[in-house]
Amino acid sequence: MARIFHDTDAPLDPVQNKTVAVIGYGNQGRAWALNLRDSKLDVIVGTVADASQQAASDDGFPAHTVGDAVAQADVICLLIPDEVMGEAVAAHIKDALKPGAAVVFASGYAVAYNEVDLPDTVDVVMVAPRMIGVGVRDSYVDGSGFIAFTGVERDATGNAWPVVLGVARALGATKRGSVEMTFAQEATIDLFVEQGIAPALQKVWRDAAMVLLEKGIPIEAILAEFYLSGEIERTYRAMRELGATKQWQLHSQTSQYGTASRAERYNDVDLASRMRIAIEEITSGAFAKEWAAERAAGYPKVKALREAEGRDALMDFEDSVRRQFEPA
Ligand code: NDP
Repeated sequence: MARIFHDTDAPLDPVQNKTVAVIGYGNQGRAWALNLRDSKLDVIVGTVADASQQAASDDGFPAHTVGDAVAQADVICLLIPDEVMGEAVAAHIKDALKPGAAVVFASGYAVAYNEVDLPDTVDVVMVAPRMIGVGVRDSYVDGSGFIAFTGVERDATGNAWPVVLGVARALGATKRGSVEMTFAQEATIDLFVEQGIAPALQKVWRDAAMVLLEKGIPIEAILAEFYLSGEIERTYRAMRELGATKQWQLHSQTSQYGTASRAERYNDVDLASRMRIAIEEITSGAFAKEWAAERAAGYPKVKALREAEGRDALMDFEDSVRRQFEPA
């Protein structure tokens, strides 16, 4: 059984009276800075671009260059895109770190795939929210909290666990529960959802739309049924609130019978073998290597994939349908 940390396991004392630098003021950065400050931690912000420095100043934070913020801090939260982490650490962070500082990541990726090089004298820890940035902030403000994965990669000081749990608590990540994970496990599950599950779901929805279109169901109705109505979203919410099994009570008997009686029909669809290919690429580091090469080449495959999807045309069409479902 994995350990799940709650507020009672995570006193704030180890991070009180310490300077916490939030590096990056984007999706997660802003939410972290506001939550940590509201938990009475001493927060400063380090940014590269003037616009994000201005945004941090407008929110009342002392805003510094990345190097200056890191040099002052005991706890450094790296909230910049994973793909620039290695470069940013080498250029602005590594040499500025105080010995004994704790470097906090919101994702396991950069460390799991050896894309960052940090001195042996610092703790390397993780609080990875299972929540987008605005959700991290909103659920702190409304008191509901969010789930996170928490871990220690390197305990240089002997104090890494109390520090990471203090950060998790101050962020709101131990209210519902933080699951103990290694950086590699966090990266694996995160990438697997994107590469093992999302493409399979895309295929399900694409095939389903094709079969319905063949029977003359209008595309507007299909989009409404699949996601614009929010009905499926409510079902997922009910899974969270009641449990995947109990939420069945919310559906009609016809629905329950129809789903259960047809479930076996799909048993021989072999998804697991494709999923194993995905997980092998993830755990072997092959995907990380491929992605690093793609970045180094200036994203040629990303551009080609976007073009092949015809994403822009799809977006326009979707926007026009969505507008028709907006309340008057
Ligand atoms: P964003 O894309 O929102 O981060 C943008 C910030 O990073 C900006 O402040 C930008 O600064 C800064 N930045 C960009 N490039 C550099 C650079 N080369 N050097 C220094 N700073 C730079 O990132 P997210 O908040 O989405 O992600 C941050 C971390 O959180 C990642 O590890 C991600 O995996 C993790 N995470 C993200 C989630 C999400 O929902 N987005 C969910 C859970 C975890 P400037 O404007 O100054 O260029």
